[in-house]
Amino acid sequence: MKIFHRISEKATPEILETLASFGIVIVPDPLNLFRFEVDESDERWPAIQQWMAAQGFTDSVRTTFSESEISSAKWLTLDPQWHYGYPQPKEDEFGYLTATYDLGDYCEQCGIGNVQKASFQMRGEPKWGRRGMLQLNWVFEEFFATPDVWARIFKPFGVACRPVCNTQGQELQTVVQLVVSEQVHVSTHRLEGYRCELCGLIKYRPFTKGGFPALTTTPTSPMVRTYESFGSGARAWRATIISQEIRTALKEAGVRGVDFTPVEEFRAIDAT
Ligand SMILES: [Zn+2]
Repeated sequence: MKIFHRISEKATPEILETLASFGIVIVPDPLNLFRFEVDESDERWPAIQQWMAAQGFTDSVRTTFSESEISSAKWLTLDPQWHYGYPQPKEDEFGYLTATYDLGDYCEQCGIGNVQKASFQMRGEPKWGRRGMLQLNWVFEEFFATPDVWARIFKPFGVACRPVCNTQGQELQTVVQLVVSEQVHVSTHRLEGYRCELCGLIKYRPFTKGGFPALTTTPTSPMVRTYESFGSGARAWRATIISQEIRTALKEAGVRGVDFTPVEEFRAIDAT
């Protein structure tokens, strides 16, 4: 596992000099901005981290995993490699929300509480290319697959599907939605949560550092999602989690369009 910190700042002679003293040579862009990435195993990282804190710089974090870390994880989050199109109707964002969800308990401020009541609508058959799975823009808690990928990979694991329609209500032939009904809790002690001022529910900042937080309830099915919602602003989604068996089946079948993040093993501290 490698944890990368990306820093984007405006270049000043002092900053460039300090970075050069760390052995990092920066060529600022025409707007005099620069960006660099350093991973935590780099011997210069502690000094850079201290310097950044003193300067008040913030960074964005991403984590990469080795093939063996991914293939030895019992559970993994399912992550999109791409987003295709927008949910319809899309006069504005509310069009698809009203058409697709029961919004009785929905909070416009944080985006939590929508319950699916109808098929998703897409503009037409997705342009799959060589991919077999996709996620729509805006809808980060649902995955869609070709009927073939669903039948070969997901159906044998007991994962149901539901049709996707065009805006005239006709069922599309090359795409289905994967139905995930079971929900599990995750350990929240490493997450940064904030409470919605309007509805009082807690949402967590998207998780980017290290493995995904451990599950604190044991799934009884191989594809589940979290009770906990993630996101910022009016966007909220629950993470989708699959078993290693499903990941292996996807990999062996060469299905493209999704990535995986290992879920950490439960430890005593996760119970807090
Ligand atoms: Zn809210």
